[in-house]
Amino acid sequence: MDKPIEVHGSGLVCDNPNCDYEKRDIAMQDYGAWVGALCPDCGEPLLTQAQYNMMSGVLEIVNMVNEMADDPFMAALMGKIDEDMEGRKASFRIKCTKDAEVEVGELKWKDN
Ligand SMILES: [Zn+2]
Repeated sequence: MDKPIEVHGSGLVCDNPNCDYEKRDIAMQDYGAWVGALCPDCGEPLLTQAQYNMMSGVLEIVNMVNEMADDPFMAALMGKIDEDMEGRKASFRIKCTKDAEVEVGELKWKDN
């Protein structure tokens, strides 16, 4: 079975609403190196320590759920749920705002 939760994360976007700077070619694993980096266009922080901590917290929860799926009982349970859901997958976006709040987007079902 695939991991229950897959994370597709990358890139940093400037939080300044009047600035459209974005850097897409940063992998999530490399975010640590970008803490405190400033936007080259407007000088606003691209990634604050608080945002980074928040993002790490979210990833920790994801990893916990994925590790739970390695347990045979949980794997069986999740497999059953997966079957009941007819293997449907859903996706949603998570954004860490400038105030280090997590914004969770609308859940979108993917029809396989
Ligand atoms: Zn900017």
